[in-house]
Amino acid sequence: MSKKLITKDEFIKNIGKLFDEEVVKMRSEESYLQARFRASGIADCPRALTLQLLNLPEDKYPRAKNDTAKGFKLMQHGTDIHTFIQKVLIHMGLMTEDDLEEQKRIQDDEKYLLSGHPDGVLTLKDMKCLLEIKSINSGGYKYLKEPKIAHFYQGHTYLAFLEMQYGLKLAGIIFLYAERENDDMGFKPFWIPRDQKVIDMVFDKLLSMRATLESGKIEEIPAGYDPTNKKMIPCRWCPFNNTKLCRSGKNKISEFPEANIVANIQIQEKNV
Ligand code: SF4
Repeated sequence: MSKKLITKDEFIKNIGKLFDEEVVKMRSEESYLQARFRASGIADCPRALTLQLLNLPEDKYPRAKNDTAKGFKLMQHGTDIHTFIQKVLIHMGLMTEDDLEEQKRIQDDEKYLLSGHPDGVLTLKDMKCLLEIKSINSGGYKYLKEPKIAHFYQGHTYLAFLEMQYGLKLAGIIFLYAERENDDMGFKPFWIPRDQKVIDMVFDKLLSMRATLESGKIEEIPAGYDPTNKKMIPCRWCPFNNTKLCRSGKNKISEFPEANIVANIQIQEKNV
């Protein structure tokens, strides 16, 4: 695709703004290609997850502030930290190139409509387990005493799909939290054994959301959630918390004519 060139003066004057615009554009193209439930969001609100799967154009349905260039730049910063840690662990002989996310990408397009990128498999003397690297700011790092709940469910989702897709039966997960803003990069590692009950909950949630979409609906606002409450987490931070998306009151896919839902969902609209 040919791109519009800019002059030296335009570069000097506008590179910050142009860079941010391109970051958002690239991210939106990536999201379009990955219109699946994401393992990283498996603990999220089901209404947010089904809205995300509609893959609505962002010019007509703008997301709230989270989907900004700042958020994506931060994510890239985290990715760089992951790559560095993986490189050192490979050098230590605890991982191989074959254990990394590029080789162990998760994608289930048939039943669960899920995609994800586990950070890798660790081979220790006494076991093989999943490694999940999380970069975290210093404030969060200081008070961290256990893996975050979203990461706990994400890790179990990876365990389940690594077993299904690659036949890898792993004993559990080591979460390695790295302090992002410390040049010396402190670590807090946590061990979580595999729990089949959690894996079953993940499968149930995925199948239930799929069934909702197949019946032509989007998940309702779950009990206990309140998008109008500015203090409430997770609604406060939710990218779908606006009047065009979550607060639109719409519960049918047909009410979003621009929805570009993954092709293998056969929608049978039922009266709501
Ligand atoms: S605003 Fe709250 S209820 Fe609505 S989709 Fe987001 S998290 Fe769910």
